Amino acid sequence: MPTASISPRGEERARAGHPWIYRSDVARPDAAAGDLVQVIGAHGRTVGYALFSDRSEITLRMISVGPAPPPADFVRDRLEAAIRFRTSLGLDASAYRLVHGEADRIPSLIVDRYGDYLVLQALSQGIDRRVDAIAGALTTLVNPAGILARNDPRVRLLEGLEPQVTVLRGEVPDRIDVREGAVHYQVDPWRGQKTGLFLDQRENREAALRYARGRLLDAFSYHGGFALALAPRCTSVLAVDISEDAVARIRENAARNGLAHVEARAMNVFDELRELERVGARFDTIVLDPPAFAKNKASVPKALSGYNEINLRALKLLEPGGFLVTCSCSYNVSEGMFLDVIAGAAADARAEVSLVEKRSQGRDHPILVNVPETHYLKCFILRKLP
Ligand code: SAH
Repeated sequence: MPTASISPRGEERARAGHPWIYRSDVARPDAAAGDLVQVIGAHGRTVGYALFSDRSEITLRMISVGPAPPPADFVRDRLEAAIRFRTSLGLDASAYRLVHGEADRIPSLIVDRYGDYLVLQALSQGIDRRVDAIAGALTTLVNPAGILARNDPRVRLLEGLEPQVTVLRGEVPDRIDVREGAVHYQVDPWRGQKTGLFLDQRENREAALRYARGRLLDAFSYHGGFALALAPRCTSVLAVDISEDAVARIRENAARNGLAHVEARAMNVFDELRELERVGARFDTIVLDPPAFAKNKASVPKALSGYNEINLRALKLLEPGGFLVTCSCSYNVSEGMFLDVIAGAAADARAEVSLVEKRSQGRDHPILVNVPETHYLKCFILRKLP
């Protein structure tokens, strides 16, 4: 097996339970793209075993720590454990995440389940090389009707991997019927964002349902995740998304679920919030679920001002006693920073606001306590005091 020597700093990181060792901590190993390598620390000691990338800044992704090599079929074992955990959760949905990369100890592998189908993403050289074996193991473990590789996220470019969307097993249709709680969706696994749906928000939709009432505004609605889940509790629903295509899907999904009071508008939320304020609109429940405003550290200040603006405007549009469900999926904006933004927005809006629930991503997207990068989604349920 090829070896890779790492610096004391890299060794400390690995021993502290972080699976990523950066290029600056690795001496150039004699290994090929995607190889499993033995990781060597000070005095020639074996730190553990890792998958090697010859392109990414993340040169090594630890598979195991300690002198014993991982068993030959470690991927299969970990897939099985990941699936067993999801089964044990008893999720009220036919669409959910089966494998969440690092948090299931299979770094950079995503597998989402949509009914009888699986959609996977192989986001590093090590996983990309093993994707056929992974598809084989998934077939044995889950027996899906088809497996699609949605290998088109931009992060693959950092690994020098081509974007490609291909069927790995069986057949995968353009539309898959799935259910989340009481809501029925049609998912397009080939072209939808991420692997088709924003599965990480499922439990936040369930939580929001406990408070939703009156006039609902769902901003950054995509296919209507929050709008459709909350609609049965609300008297009117306005869903806003900048994408015409998303708005068409919201309308289809509303009709499919017999929700005649859902209106969908293709608008830029920043403009629409201003317009709603100008015409004197008011809401009893508002959801803000924007895309990651801070894709990297450099864009954090601009992201914070974006979060401030939408939260300030939403708090102004909210009736006293109403609820604001506000989210950030920017890893680079921590929970503390996001709470500060909300506090600033509340002060600017001259509103007294209480934090009713502090939430995160669903349990099928686990967070590793030693790996802050696995905690990316923040969701606060706020109440504007009457
Ligand atoms: N709330 C959704 C997920 C939202 S993802 C759910 O629960 O499924 C973010 C969405 O914001 C995407 O659909 C994207 O098209 C939309 N978007 C991005 N920028 C926007 C803007 N400035 N105004 C309106 N929508 C925007």
